Amino acid sequence: MNVQHILEKQREFYKTHKTKDPDFRKHKLRQLKTLIQKNEDVLYEAIYKDFGKSRFETYTTEISFVLKDIDYYLKNLDRFAKPKSAKTNLVNQIATSKIYSEPLGCVLVIGAWNYPYQLSLSPMVAAIAAGNTCIVKPSEIAFHTMAVMAQIINPEFPEEFLYVAEGGIEETTELLKLKFDKIFFTGSTRVGKIVYEAAAKHLTPVTLELGGKSPVIVTASADFDVAAKRIVWGKFLNAGQTCVAPDYLLVDEKVKDKFLEYLRQYIKKFEYGPDKQHYTQIINQKNFKRLTELIDTAKVYFGGNHDVNNLYIEPTILTDVQWEDKVMQEEIFGPVLPVLTYQYFREALNEILETEKPLAAYIFTKNNEEKELFTSLLSFGGGCINDVVMHLSNDHLPFGGVGNSGIGSYHGKYGFEAFSHRKAVMDRATWGEPNLKYPPYSEEKMKWINRVM
Ligand code: NAD
Repeated sequence: MNVQHILEKQREFYKTHKTKDPDFRKHKLRQLKTLIQKNEDVLYEAIYKDFGKSRFETYTTEISFVLKDIDYYLKNLDRFAKPKSAKTNLVNQIATSKIYSEPLGCVLVIGAWNYPYQLSLSPMVAAIAAGNTCIVKPSEIAFHTMAVMAQIINPEFPEEFLYVAEGGIEETTELLKLKFDKIFFTGSTRVGKIVYEAAAKHLTPVTLELGGKSPVIVTASADFDVAAKRIVWGKFLNAGQTCVAPDYLLVDEKVKDKFLEYLRQYIKKFEYGPDKQHYTQIINQKNFKRLTELIDTAKVYFGGNHDVNNLYIEPTILTDVQWEDKVMQEEIFGPVLPVLTYQYFREALNEILETEKPLAAYIFTKNNEEKELFTSLLSFGGGCINDVVMHLSNDHLPFGGVGNSGIGSYHGKYGFEAFSHRKAVMDRATWGEPNLKYPPYSEEKMKWINRVM
């Protein structure tokens, strides 16, 4: 398929202004919702083929997520799309001022493989809600989910409005040569830089949803039972292949042994077996090899077993880990949790401050001063106090990174804004103007201007 031709058609369609009509957008969102609901079984099947993800996890972390987004915009898009009144300063009286939410135009969404539906379709839903046309390029690594999205969406929607482009690096490289009005990318920091560079050639704005090493701190005052339950869940969800999963654990050395025991109990309780009922497999051989090479057998506290035939890696905890260890040099993105200790709380924060700004950060504590220091001293995309991962499910919060973990944000109204331009318009009365700014200039006018300004 010639993507350049499709983009040209989208440009022509955009010029008809049809996408600016909120009713048009709502109609398309309803159509998409019905399509997803009708094809739920096919969607479950495809993701199971890609990496053995259970129906339960697919529904809770993917399908329901996208459906919730559609409902959210159906409910709110009229309000978001309406011009907002702004104040007018004294110099510009008499006038009314408004901010118009204008769609950016023809946008490109590039998705990652780890939550293949959510990461391609949620930005796409926000783009439609904001009145854009959209080309979506899901990740080819999750091959079956990419194919199924194209199979169900492309026949249902005219390509001049919405199109799922299949392909890998070569096809994405071709797409990136084209001039879009916005590129929304989810993926690694390495590829994020490629996307940013390509976008700069056309001065195309970007949202970059990237990754990084997200820490979780457990202090001596934490509720260990709650902390262990939530950390184990967030770390081993999707077999650790989650951008906001806790990458490593920093625990107060005084309580390390006690807390590790809690972690062990919860891993056992959650029945993470290779049967794919409650646990996902690793996406492919390449990642399996990369992850197993990060497991230093001398440091395994729990787990460490793996089976290449099932692409299964047991939830693994490593102890006595040092910052120089291999496992601390890159984002893990798998079911391996290195545990480091600290003596003083400030020391833990300082260690994190030495790293690139993470996508997420978490702390378990009952101490208000520690909460305050964590929030005010660390820089990270978003996070939780006494939980992990869940901040991304709160539509009232912007979701995105900072520094190496990304540029921009989305979810809820922030998703709408990511695909909109705020157009400022002042409507001035044609009467009542003091004529101060017009020549001929004079000292008298200058005096008045000084007063007014
Ligand atoms: P990736 O960067 O390898 O791939 C992402 C997309 O980029 C894919 O669609 C792929 O086809 C394309 N791509 C890959 N190489 C390319 C190249 N050389 N030129 C042009 N396009 C290219 O990322 P991934 O492996 O799919 O995902 C894992 C990474 O994504 C992790 O770092 C993870 O933290 C991050 N991630 C971030 C979020 C977030 O919301 N911030 C969500 C999920 C994953």
